[in-house]
Amino acid sequence: MVLQINPRGFEITRTMKITWKRIKISPASVFRTAKAVRTDKETIWVQIKHEGTVGWGEAVPMDTYRQTLESAEETLGAVSELLATRDPRHIEELSEELVARFDKQLATVAAIDAALHDWVGKKYGLSTVTMLGLNPARIPVTSFSIGIDTPQVVAEKTKAAAGFPIFKVKVGTPEGDIALKTIREFAPKKTVRVDANMGWTVEQALEQLPRLRELRVEFVEQPIAANDLEGLRRLKEAAIIPIVADESCVRPGDVLRLAGCVDGINIKLGKCGGIRPAMKMIHLARALGMKIMLGCMIESSLGIAAAAQLAPLVDWLDLDGHLLIKDDPFIGLGGQGGRLMIGGSQGLGVRPV
Ligand code: MG
Repeated sequence: MVLQINPRGFEITRTMKITWKRIKISPASVFRTAKAVRTDKETIWVQIKHEGTVGWGEAVPMDTYRQTLESAEETLGAVSELLATRDPRHIEELSEELVARFDKQLATVAAIDAALHDWVGKKYGLSTVTMLGLNPARIPVTSFSIGIDTPQVVAEKTKAAAGFPIFKVKVGTPEGDIALKTIREFAPKKTVRVDANMGWTVEQALEQLPRLRELRVEFVEQPIAANDLEGLRRLKEAAIIPIVADESCVRPGDVLRLAGCVDGINIKLGKCGGIRPAMKMIHLARALGMKIMLGCMIESSLGIAAAAQLAPLVDWLDLDGHLLIKDDPFIGLGGQGGRLMIGGSQGLGVRPV
């Protein structure tokens, strides 16, 4: 407990307590991308307690950015020391400090950012989306990811997801390309987006994009390597289908570097450090005339609920992480058929089961 003397001279306690716990997340089925096969994984619940109110956030360390559960926990230890005497109402100031200090651990910073927003919302009886001044009725419909598998399994998954109007599929591998064709066969009228996860060279992408256009794909995410901005520019200028940067676009500064190289960016709270930095990216991208997608990892509805608070500001939504797991450890995030319902309760609007 930390005691401080306030300006009026009497003692007050100002102690923010941060605790955390690993949780197991099991995908509803094996999920493959061009880079990896995802099976069971662990994420970390983060809880902030202050003045009798708790706020929650979820940390999903991303191997793409060399983060691990261990590095996340180490970061949480340092953050809990740093924030012990701070006021959780000062989210902007705390976010700036944490992003600067833990630049390589932004998935963990995002969990703290979410917990701070949740805490303030609960403290003052407001949903986070309302606190941000946004209209939850303006949330776009989210895409639903169909994992790569044999054509027969992909056909079954496509049929089982008939209630979702927009599909996303990972391409960039021979199986992924077959999966896309299968999805089109079984869902000829739906909107389909693809993510190549850096699977192609520029030349391969130039060969593949007309095929994607023929299959009426809405846009392609990260066709080539993250650092090949000139390659992205060539693909954008070819104007075959819209190009969206994901792995290339981590922080606000990346939005500036990508202007003119892509048609849109995919923002994820775990990449940039939470709601605050994501807002900066959204406003920058808008000013630069870029489209905005909001994405996620495989995570529980705690992590998804944090991202959903910003959803009224974006063009394309890809917040299906909680729909791809079984036994979601959090409840309260409403919606069906790709519609997300938020704003009905305080803070992020979710609680542990
Ligand atoms: Mg992606």
